[in-house]
Amino acid sequence: MAEGRYANIIIDISHEKVDRPFQYKIPASLAGILEPGSSVMIPFGQGNRLRRGYVIEITDRAEFPPEKMKEISHMMEGDVSVEADAIKLASWMKHTYGSTMIAALKTVLPVKQEMKPVQKKKIVRLMTKEEVLCILSESIRKHQSAKARLLTELAGEPYLPYELVTKKLNVSAATLKSLETQGVLSIERENYYRNPVKVEASPEERKQLSGEQSEIVNRVLADYRNGIRKTYLIHGITGSGKTEVYLSLIEGVIAAGRQCIVLIPEIALTYQTLLRFYKRFGDRVSVMNSTLSKGEKYDQCERARRGEIDVIIGPRSALFVPFQNLGLIVMDEEHEGSYKSESMPRYHARETAQFLANLKGASLVLGSATPSLEAYSRAKSGEYQLFTLSRRLTGGTLPSVDTIDLREELKSGNRSIFSRRLQELMEERLQKKEQIMLFLNRRGYAGFVSCRSCGYVMKCPHCDVSLSQHLHGKMVCHYCGYETVQPAKCPVCSSPYILGFKAGTQQIEEQIHKRFPDARVLRMDADTTRKKNDYEEILSAFSEGKADILVGTQMIVKGHDFPNVTLMGVLAADLSLNDHDYRSGERTFQLLTQAAGRAGRGTKPGEVVIQTYRPDHYSIVRAATQDYEAFYEEEMLYRELAGYPPASHMLAILVSSENEQAGESLCVRIGNLLKAGTDPENREKMQIIGPAKASVGRINDIYRFVIYCKHKDYNKLVECKDKVESFLNQTEIRGQNVQFDFDPIDSF
Ligand code: ADP
Ligand code: ZN
Ligand code: ZN
Repeated sequence: MAEGRYANIIIDISHEKVDRPFQYKIPASLAGILEPGSSVMIPFGQGNRLRRGYVIEITDRAEFPPEKMKEISHMMEGDVSVEADAIKLASWMKHTYGSTMIAALKTVLPVKQEMKPVQKKKIVRLMTKEEVLCILSESIRKHQSAKARLLTELAGEPYLPYELVTKKLNVSAATLKSLETQGVLSIERENYYRNPVKVEASPEERKQLSGEQSEIVNRVLADYRNGIRKTYLIHGITGSGKTEVYLSLIEGVIAAGRQCIVLIPEIALTYQTLLRFYKRFGDRVSVMNSTLSKGEKYDQCERARRGEIDVIIGPRSALFVPFQNLGLIVMDEEHEGSYKSESMPRYHARETAQFLANLKGASLVLGSATPSLEAYSRAKSGEYQLFTLSRRLTGGTLPSVDTIDLREELKSGNRSIFSRRLQELMEERLQKKEQIMLFLNRRGYAGFVSCRSCGYVMKCPHCDVSLSQHLHGKMVCHYCGYETVQPAKCPVCSSPYILGFKAGTQQIEEQIHKRFPDARVLRMDADTTRKKNDYEEILSAFSEGKADILVGTQMIVKGHDFPNVTLMGVLAADLSLNDHDYRSGERTFQLLTQAAGRAGRGTKPGEVVIQTYRPDHYSIVRAATQDYEAFYEEEMLYRELAGYPPASHMLAILVSSENEQAGESLCVRIGNLLKAGTDPENREKMQIIGPAKASVGRINDIYRFVIYCKHKDYNKLVECKDKVESFLNQTEIRGQNVQFDFDPIDSF
């Protein structure tokens, strides 16, 4: 229920029209009853013909003189259309994450194409065979040969593809038209929805579920049958059979006549994963991902709306596929950072899925080998139901892990990026013709170049970030693209050791070639995976044994099975600890656990070498022993002490501005507004940090400032956001932009 005298209404819920809501007066009889998503009849246009519209917002702000405003006629009750649900979802997102209603609607509504849907035309016979034969003989008599060709075919077939008739039979449009007028045939159009799935998968033999697996399936489906809808978290290492559980759950939900959304991080959306779904559900499953064209994406939404598919698989945006009877949402790898949107509304797919599941009466199943602190703490508190899968089903033992202190290596004179232990093991594996993976956990600008003698770091002149080293001595800014050449000596102290350790994947590849000239190496990182199929090609080449060593960034550690890999080297485990945000410990633990899980997937035992400057850090210690529970306890303690999510909630307000001073002063005004407006009771509980320069204080010559608010109660932070929004609505600001980010994943 929302308060206000006026309703903003959209009439036609296609993407382009969303920008043009119309304002109507709310009649007394509907005051307090209407809400976003309500469907109403309104007098429209000159003739005041009644048309159906959807309320998207309720407000007290009249956009034009109220006396000129028309009034809503009445409400259509009991509308449970997908449109109404989409608007409710958008309205919740706007409220929860901060954005305009238009931006929220554009996020949830399928992209309507200006382009017409692909249409297929067909010729439909309207007469009986005998009647057609009768007209045929007449046309033969009149020497109308084109007409005769068509009628001959049409006598045999009740439908003919239009193409066949116009091209193969060479019948003109005029001839067709005259036969249509005569009532012999009609030309019909039907929309043709592109199906991106081009797999011919034969069904596979059903696996007998393990005891642990069937326990989960039985309990979730029993809840389902009894009308209980909950959120479940499946904690199970990679290979413990989570996907198999999802498949059985989906089967059960489809049997109950409802549909399913399966969320998978884009990077894990591999051919192998899709194949398993196709084998089980055939063409009742479809996929959404960034390689689909806009038209193909829209078509998948249409197919879902029309009930042509039961399952959609895709990244976070697959949540918005408009199923009529959604019954289950599965979110695999729920801890992945890519589930958070990077533009407003900056929604998180986990919470959004939970809201959607509530709205639709669906269940939500989360799965991960390394659950987010958010999900695990909710599972511990009983808000989610926790299940554990403890065994790997394909056999293979957990690998043994060696942690190597890189400071010691340097002390003993080893300047190489490979520790002596790693070199030994690599040598041995190469001899035995077993495969090796080398993992560099650098993110974004972490591949910077610094001087090992004085600590000087090369920075971008337009952004407050360090430059990254590329091939041929180029230094590149990953934020704005600025390029320069790399100096041979440190500009400050003239030391030649300016490369330092923090080399990128390219340098590692070069080092491997130097140290092991005969080894065949594949590299996978942002540079080698630019094209659509690069990623799959590298992985299958490695899987087919076309290389001995695969070196890469985090792309290589996500969910692939290479039975012949028996050694995984993590080159600098603490690189991801240097990200300077509160999630870096969690991210490091996740990456190292995943990396360790790559070795020894087959019958041969695996070994993992973790090289680090911080062998005592709990993220590294716990990952080495694969002890999630212990990691969770330590990490949670830290979050509680420091008031970070999920122990507390956090709102980041980011101000960006072309003008440094204007940005700073706007940020200060917002800060003062928040500090002044907080009532005494909440002042103690609310922590306001800043205003301050963002940690990347300038990107492409745009200055960035940030304020952080922390409070245990999420709603208090929503109040802060609302306060800032209404301040911004009343204030003239130019050349500046304000964004909200709740429980941010990355620091600003
Ligand atoms: P996860 O999603 O947790 O990584 P998967 O469901 O992919 O686990 O299972 C890992 C491997 O074990 C797959 O090759 C799968 O086919 C196999 N598997 C899963 N469940 C069973 C089962 N009940 N019996 C035999 N093999 C199974
Ligand atoms: Zn120096
Ligand atoms: Zn730059």
